[in-house]
Amino acid sequence: MGDGTLRCRECGTLYPMEAIYVCLRCFGPLEVVYDYAALAAQSLRERFASGPRSMWRYEPLLPVARVPEIDLQPGWSPLQHATRLGERLGLRRLYLKNDSVNPTWSFKDRVVGVGIAAARAFGFEVVACASTGNLANAVAAHAARAGLRAVVFIPRGLERGKVVASGAYAPTLVEVDGTYDDVNRLCAEIAEEHRWAFVNVNLRPYYAEGGKTLGFEVAEQLGWRAPDHVIVPVASGSLLVKIHKGLHELRRVGVLEEVRTAVHGAQAAGAGPVAAAFADGAEQVRPVRPQTIARSLAIGNPADGRYVLRIARETGGTVLAVSDAQMVEGITLLAETEGIFTETAGGVTVAVLRELAARGAVGAEEIVVAYITGTGLKTVEALDGALAPAVTIGAGLRDFERHVLDRVLA
Ligand SMILES: *Cc1c(COP(=O)(O)O)cnc(C)c1O
Ligand SMILES: [Zn+2]
Repeated sequence: MGDGTLRCRECGTLYPMEAIYVCLRCFGPLEVVYDYAALAAQSLRERFASGPRSMWRYEPLLPVARVPEIDLQPGWSPLQHATRLGERLGLRRLYLKNDSVNPTWSFKDRVVGVGIAAARAFGFEVVACASTGNLANAVAAHAARAGLRAVVFIPRGLERGKVVASGAYAPTLVEVDGTYDDVNRLCAEIAEEHRWAFVNVNLRPYYAEGGKTLGFEVAEQLGWRAPDHVIVPVASGSLLVKIHKGLHELRRVGVLEEVRTAVHGAQAAGAGPVAAAFADGAEQVRPVRPQTIARSLAIGNPADGRYVLRIARETGGTVLAVSDAQMVEGITLLAETEGIFTETAGGVTVAVLRELAARGAVGAEEIVVAYITGTGLKTVEALDGALAPAVTIGAGLRDFERHVLDRVLA
């Protein structure tokens, strides 16, 4: 890709823009560097506003340019003022960023949009990923659109909806007998040996930048202001770190005047190593073996865990974990009050939001944004036994009157 630079997040060593992701000196993660001074001199608000109605309107703050012929147009999803859920929780300015409205129905289309454009710019012919489900869907779909070969690796036992939603795009779908953390380690080894573009391994510095657009978009949709609180589901931690980075970048380039956003992380208790470290006051995250039906969040050794801890503490946020039962309640509460059917990760987010509201950690008049990152249609198993069954009747008016009418009028 030529010009541009990567920098180690720990020791600051600079590297050229290549398909690399760890610092050779200290093994820290690499990050893309931008010329903020040059960007601050531009009229960025106007430039964004005149861009496409997708995440690519923020192209000046992304590491690669949009490639129109391979674009699936992720992003520019609704920001919904959640009046009914807000009333239940005592929050008047609660907003839901509904990112289940995307080409493959999760926020992963944003990161993969950037990752695939980078893979093409580097001249890769095979794109791959280690996935908990949604990422595999997105890589398979974007690769199909780009005419690239896709190889997606998932742990065994994922939800059927997620497996089918990858298979439909005809990638090579590899089910590994192990946890996501095993899959991820295997993919890092493969990336050492084969010139494949693993979007979340050797292309991670580029791919992860797509997550910033979930910070940019919310700020723009709020009329160019930063929320007082954001609640973000945490698996590897990348999305939370990038939403925070995106908001602060907007301040550095003069698009926002101030950012005082408290950043809260949401985990499932069965895969909650970051929440546990937060509660213990620890600086390092101790890996766990995941045990939760929130499979999209089932990462036991999160790559960005300690950055999540640092950001939550620095911004006055928290990292909380909720049980699977609370998560299911979160899914149904959101659907019943706001008409949004989310997957398990969204249920975790809503359950954590509910807990924060109950503790008074988010105020009635503060602007609170909860990120809903994927659709419930991929994880229908989570609601087994949780919903009232259908009323089954014969096709006659008498049947209707006898079995249905009283329930509706009751
Ligand atoms: C991947 C994923 C997340 C979390 O992403 P990280 O960046 O790994 O923390 C959250 N929600 C959904 C639906 C996901 O698929
Ligand atoms: Zn370093």
